[in-house]
Amino acid sequence: MYLCFLCNGLEKLTERCPKCEGHMLDAGKVVDYYGDYAAYVEVETQQRVDGYSNSSESHQCVHIGVCSNCNYIEEIAINEKEM
Ligand SMILES: [Zn+2]
Ligand SMILES: [Zn+2]
Repeated sequence: MYLCFLCNGLEKLTERCPKCEGHMLDAGKVVDYYGDYAAYVEVETQQRVDGYSNSSESHQCVHIGVCSNCNYIEEIAINEKEM
C-alpha cells in the first residue's frame, strides 16, 4: 500500500518558499484546506479538482504549504511511498 508520509507524521515538509526561501509549513491536505468540497467544485477551478481526483492513482497527496516567513501559499504534491 502507498502512504503519504506527511499525513502520517513520518516526514516533515522540506519545501522552500519560491519567493523568500523560507520554510514551508504543512497546512494539511488540499481537500481539507478548502473545506466544503462541493462548494469548491463549483468554482472555476473545476478542471484542477478533476486533476486531483486522479491523485490516488498516481500515488500523490496534494498538500497546502504555507511559508512561515511571508505566508505565501502553494499546493505541493507529495509522492506517496510504498510500504
Ligand atoms: Zn498527505
Ligand atoms: Zn516566503
